Amino acid sequence: MSETKPIVTQATLVKQAAPKSDYKPADVSPQRRVQRKYTVRLWSIRHSRMLEWFYARFADAFLMLHPLWKGIGYSRVEAPVKFVEKQVKGFMFDCRMCGQCVLSSTGMSCPMNCPKQLRNGPCGGVRANGNCEVEPDMPCVWVKAWEGSRNMAKGDAILNVQKPVDQSLRETSAWLRVTAQAAAAREAANKEPA
Ligand code: SF4
Repeated sequence: MSETKPIVTQATLVKQAAPKSDYKPADVSPQRRVQRKYTVRLWSIRHSRMLEWFYARFADAFLMLHPLWKGIGYSRVEAPVKFVEKQVKGFMFDCRMCGQCVLSSTGMSCPMNCPKQLRNGPCGGVRANGNCEVEPDMPCVWVKAWEGSRNMAKGDAILNVQKPVDQSLRETSAWLRVTAQAAAAREAANKEPA
């Protein structure tokens, strides 16, 4: 009878090959060094359908306020809106403020929490239990994204190919960007001859 060998992932091989020194970080996981619990993040994924519904109404309300944002100046409202967005999405999704939110297309699982920051599905290293190759105790954000997307009315948006992250948009408000883009699209549509 042949013995089954334990699976050695690429991340383990890289770790084993790293030069040894006296300094070892207190925790093996970079994710856990900044955040110890995934509870709220996983709750949001489980309730992705409700959050999809809520976000659609929220985006409509934000778009209705476009004249106000424009009157005050988008650049003036950016700081307070960004502050609120960061607190709310940070708490609910572990948002990293990439500025190009794709939560609606990823089952409410933020892809910026993937240690490799993959934007179009998982790498080949997902463990047999569905956890991350790099952070063994963390569920793969893309496995969770697929689960979350299956609950959503527009969940098939997960099949759309996402653009690479534009790092110049980090720490900007995705809420304001989406609103301004939707307002511009609406104005362009209104200008088109019938
Ligand atoms: S996709 Fe970007 S903006 Fe959306 S939750 Fe993740 S880091 Fe935040």
